[in-house]
This record gives sequence, structure tokens and C-alpha cells, in this order.
Amino acid sequence: MYDYLVVGAGLFGAVFAEQAHKAGKSVLVIDRRDHIAGNVYCEDVEGIKVHKYGAHIFHTNDKKVWQYIQKFSEFNRFTNSPVANYKGELYSLPFNMYTFNKMWGVVTPDEAAAKIEEQKDDFMVEMKGKYADEEWAKADDMSGFQAHNLEEQAISLVGRDIYEKLVKGYTEKQWGRKCTELPSFIIKRLPVRLTFDNNYFNALYQGIPVESYTGMVANMLDGVEVRTGVDFLKDEGGKDHWKSLAKKIVYTGAIDEYFGYSLGNLEYRSVRFENELLDTPSYQGNAAVNYTDAETPWTRIIEHKWFTFGKDDEGNDLPKTVISREYSSEWKLGDEPYYPVNDERNAGLFAKYKELAASDTDIIFGGRLGEYKYYDMDQVIARALEVSEQELGGSY
Ligand code: FAD
Repeated sequence: MYDYLVVGAGLFGAVFAEQAHKAGKSVLVIDRRDHIAGNVYCEDVEGIKVHKYGAHIFHTNDKKVWQYIQKFSEFNRFTNSPVANYKGELYSLPFNMYTFNKMWGVVTPDEAAAKIEEQKDDFMVEMKGKYADEEWAKADDMSGFQAHNLEEQAISLVGRDIYEKLVKGYTEKQWGRKCTELPSFIIKRLPVRLTFDNNYFNALYQGIPVESYTGMVANMLDGVEVRTGVDFLKDEGGKDHWKSLAKKIVYTGAIDEYFGYSLGNLEYRSVRFENELLDTPSYQGNAAVNYTDAETPWTRIIEHKWFTFGKDDEGNDLPKTVISREYSSEWKLGDEPYYPVNDERNAGLFAKYKELAASDTDIIFGGRLGEYKYYDMDQVIARALEVSEQELGGSY
């Protein structure tokens, strides 16, 4: 009998398995996909490491996590600097001096700040006219203004030009609804940088594993027994069979599915990818280009080779390229679950499943699906290390 059966060979499962193995425990890892690494899996296409379940850029301020993953792969110096394409006009992201220079021709930070303030002031005059009977509109200043929808919120933060060209269309495609019909709380802040800095994440540590994410996870699982293509819930007799193989289960699949959706199903937002292999060395010259107009049906295009600077493992230029167009899509049961939906219904339902789970002390639910929580990679690793420490009684 194994000490642990880990269901799911994604980051959470791999970190737990690595720690348990190192602590001298016997571990079996299974995954229903035909590969390891879960959603960070990369597939080799003509020497290009294609991020199959969406582009993944590792970034963290957590030194402990950064030092931990260095044990399993070297990381390159990739820095995420997406470009926005608005009807053929290109802008730097996140909003910074390059963006403002292109938008308005301003050169200094003072000029940029003044332009944004001017646009915000114009908008407030408009709002005072529109909502003249609201209490805040009677005051001399604007401090009491409460946006009625996402559009008003965004313009009040960055002014109309940036909103119209860089926020509106993209956000509407992402949510499948007009910005005027979306709640304002979705956008709390829209950071504006008065520096020439396209580094999107601005984290202390950032990069892409040189051996690919799949290679990094394979190194984590070195010495651990792994079986892919097997489903804990369906194969070889299902749950009872697998549970009989180990003293304890670490389950990183969906918690509602584990319980047969007995209380109803949790909801997700989904993304659809359309991949194309092109016989050209460069399609767009950057890893990520966001299409911020409403007419283009995709939200962004990822060109995977730029995560490794267009080079293969030996440093040779790759002759071809793979692009992925990303479309926001409605999710239905059976689709790949991507982003949990943080609303009351889903939070309440998850709390009930968590109660059910608490009655079985031989199973630990972890990871994005087990905990119904959006985790960045560094967060899921930190969480798996924390759970491992609690479970194994020390850090390894
Ligand atoms: P997963 O990787 O999903 O692993 C769970 C595994 O369990 C899967 O392989 C699944 O097949 C398996 N499984 C489920 N049920 C069963 C079953 N019944 N039997 C057997 N196996 C089962 N994070 C960043 O830090 N940077 C990024 O740029 C970034 N980009 C992202 C882009 C997208 C589109 C998405 C959705 C997420 C992104 N993330 C990013 C987050 C990142 O993907 C997650 O942090 C990470 O994948 C979570 O790992 P996990 O182990 O919890 O889940």
C-alpha cells in the first residue's frame, strides 16, 4: 500500500509528490490526461515549446518559491511585455510613457499626467450633467462620485482615450457583455506608469523554464511512480479501487466532480485556443499581442517561440512559428475548466463541498480545482509546499 496517492500531475500534485518522496514516503501519481504537468504542459511542435493550455509566464515576489523551483529547471530572462493592437495602431502595455507618447505625443511624465487629468476632468463634467440629481453632483469636488458601471469606472481612472482604445473592446470580449452592463467593481485600479517600462508583471523574479514546464515537472517527479491516462473516478473500478491503494489521497481534480456533483456544479469561465503552425520565422514579433478593438473576435494572439527568444535548445533560430488565437468562451459542464467564477452562488456551493470533504480525513483537496480558487503558479507552489509541510511534519 502506498503512503500517498496523488491525483493530478499538475504543479500542486507534483510539488506534493516531490516533497513526500523526499520525506521517504511511497507515492503514486496518476493523471487522466496522457501527459504530466497539468495546465502548464508544453508540447514540442517543430522545436517550439507550445503552451497547450494557455500562455504561462512564471513571475513571483516569493523568494522561497523562486529558490525552490530553481532546483528543477534553469529559468530564462523572459519578461512579459505585451503589445496592444487597436485597429492596426500598436500600443505598449501596461499603460506607461511609451503608451502615452503614442496616444498623445506627450514626452515628459508631467505632460502625460496632465493629459490624463484633463481627460478625467472632462469626464467628470459630463457625469455631473448626466447625474445632476445625485447628491455628489451638487458638491464642488468629485470625491463622492460612484461609478454606475465598468465603463464609468474605467474612464474615471484613466480618461476616455485609453478606455476607448485599450480597455473597452478587450473587456467586452472577455466578459461577453458591454462595459456599460458590467459592474464597476471588476476594475478597482488601472495602474498608470509614468516611466518607460513595459514590464507587465514587475515582479522580483520572472522567466520561463529553459527545459520547458513539462521538463521542470518531470524533474520534480524524478523517482516517483507516475501513471498517465488513468481517471481516478472512472478507470479500474473508480474511486474505491484507487482509495484502496493508498493510506491517504491528495486530490487536485475538481471537488464537485469528486462528489458526483451531488450539490450542483461549480461554474468556470473558459478560453478557446485556435493553433496554427506557420512557415514563417515571425508572425507578430512578440509573445503576446492583445486585440483591444471590439470587431476582432479573438482577445489576443500568442506566438510561442518568443518565450524562448525564437531559439531552440542549442541557440539556433527556429525557422517556423506557432500562433494561438485566444477566444473568450462560455463554459458548460464537460468543457475544460479555466477560471473559477467568484460570485456568491459559487462561493456558497464550494463552502458546502468543503464541508462534505471535511468528513473524510484521508483525503486532502488541493490546487486550483480542488480548492476552487484562481492560483498563479507561484501561489499554487507555495500552497502545495505549505500543505506538504503540515502533512509531512517538516519541510524537505
Ligand atoms: P492543474 O494544472 O489543472 O492540475 C490538475 C490535474 O489533475 C490535471 O492535469 C487533471 O488532468 C488532473 N485530474 C483532474 N481530475 C482527475 C481525475 N479524476 N483523475 C485523474 N486526474 C485528474 N499562472 C501564472 O503564474 N502565470 C501565467 O501566465 C498563467 N497563465 C494562465 C493562463 C490560463 C489560461 C490559466 C487558466 C491559468 C494560468 N495560470 C498562470 C495559472 C496556472 O495555470 C495554475 O496556477 C496551475 O496550473 C495550477 O496547477 P494545479 O496543479 O492546481 O492544476
